[in-house]
Amino acid sequence: MPSYRTLNSQLIVADYARAYPQIVRGEGVYLYDAQGRRYLDASGCTAAVTHIGHGDEAVAQALAEQAKTLAVHPTHLFHSPVVEAYFERLCAFAPEGFSRAWTISGGTEAVENSLKLAYQYQRAKGRQQRTRFVGRWDSYHGNSVTALDVGGMVGRRSFYTALMPHQHLHLRACNPYRRSEGQSLQDYEDELVTEFADLVESHPDEIAAFVAEPFVGSALGAVGPTEGYFARIAEIFRAHDILMIADEVMTGFGRTGKNFGCEHFGTHADVLACAKGISGGYLPLGAMLVRDEVAAVLRDSGDPFFSGQTYACIPLAAAVGLAVLDRIEGDHLVQRAGEVGGYLKEKLSSLLDHPHVGDVRGEGLFLGVEFVADKESREPLDASWHFSKKVEAAALQHGLVTLGARGTVEHIRGDHMLFAPPLTLTYDHADELVAALRLSIDDALRVCTS
Ligand code: PLP
Repeated sequence: MPSYRTLNSQLIVADYARAYPQIVRGEGVYLYDAQGRRYLDASGCTAAVTHIGHGDEAVAQALAEQAKTLAVHPTHLFHSPVVEAYFERLCAFAPEGFSRAWTISGGTEAVENSLKLAYQYQRAKGRQQRTRFVGRWDSYHGNSVTALDVGGMVGRRSFYTALMPHQHLHLRACNPYRRSEGQSLQDYEDELVTEFADLVESHPDEIAAFVAEPFVGSALGAVGPTEGYFARIAEIFRAHDILMIADEVMTGFGRTGKNFGCEHFGTHADVLACAKGISGGYLPLGAMLVRDEVAAVLRDSGDPFFSGQTYACIPLAAAVGLAVLDRIEGDHLVQRAGEVGGYLKEKLSSLLDHPHVGDVRGEGLFLGVEFVADKESREPLDASWHFSKKVEAAALQHGLVTLGARGTVEHIRGDHMLFAPPLTLTYDHADELVAALRLSIDDALRVCTS
């Protein structure tokens, strides 16, 4: 039995009725609890964080060395070589045309700063009234009030709607599995693109930027768009000089088998908001990468970027980021995510013989499974079952860390799981993951139907 300790805990926890096992160590793709029980980290912690695995010596050393040398410096007076070196590497890793970087402490801040930058870009062009952002339902962009507002993950934002100015605009996300019955992919895409065109037409000169996850992570479970979706939307936005922000917090740094998720669809973005895999979890780190033409507008305006935080662009973050990039590039982890991810997807697809596994999707090591009551109608499972959470709990008993979620249907129904293990996953680990998951799905079903 795992060791549990909730008494005397000072933590504000997600679930006060639950006893949480104590996790004490990580090594490679595995986590170990206080009793020495081993868990395969199939979600990449919560989630898509542990790109290079746990316990990496080189990254730990880089962190310690930089902490000894210079952790932070007065950024209003100095630049530092390690930060300059890191930003050069970051821009080289980004798609062509990205020439400016800015680091902060995580994904929410990366998105928030990207939104601010887009607003400042529009102001610099004399468009004071462009104060609105377009987001999509069933998408997550972080947990600040603005990020929740622009995002569309109903389960997370609904408690805070009273705090939101309600000026931002939302459209449906592109979720091919959930298109209308009998509708072709082309017709579905046409319908969504028309919605975007109509929205832009009906709000002339009000929109500063559009933000989207190339593959929707926790909200939908690694759902990618139809083939021409992003390119066609980009055309509409470009025609109106509305900036495109790709939320690459989960999909960046090789997760999907390309350096950035948006590269699967042609490089459509002006700003990339990054976090998670950028530091592999070794330090809270996020970044904003900016296309040259956008940065030039700010530079030519003569104004500084109207933002700034204590931990923006600090040497400690740069040293860790550099060491993680060394691992990603040195060990060819992007390519590996594509190869092992392809194998894992094939293995997960073998679960489609299960009566309640309706869909397997995603790219690279960013994969999702959706459960249904009926495969023909795609009717979701009884919400009172909390099926994906039951699978998550059963998986833990089988030594597998997973992330179960819901919301693929009407924002709140529909169970799915997101898989985003370290990019160091091997083919054997993939086999282990799928075998344990199959047992977990059966266990969960027994609990729900008994
Ligand atoms: N954007 C996406 C797509 C995310 O998945 C997340 C977090 O899960 C965020 C933004 C927010 O990142 P953070 O939790 O680091 O603030």
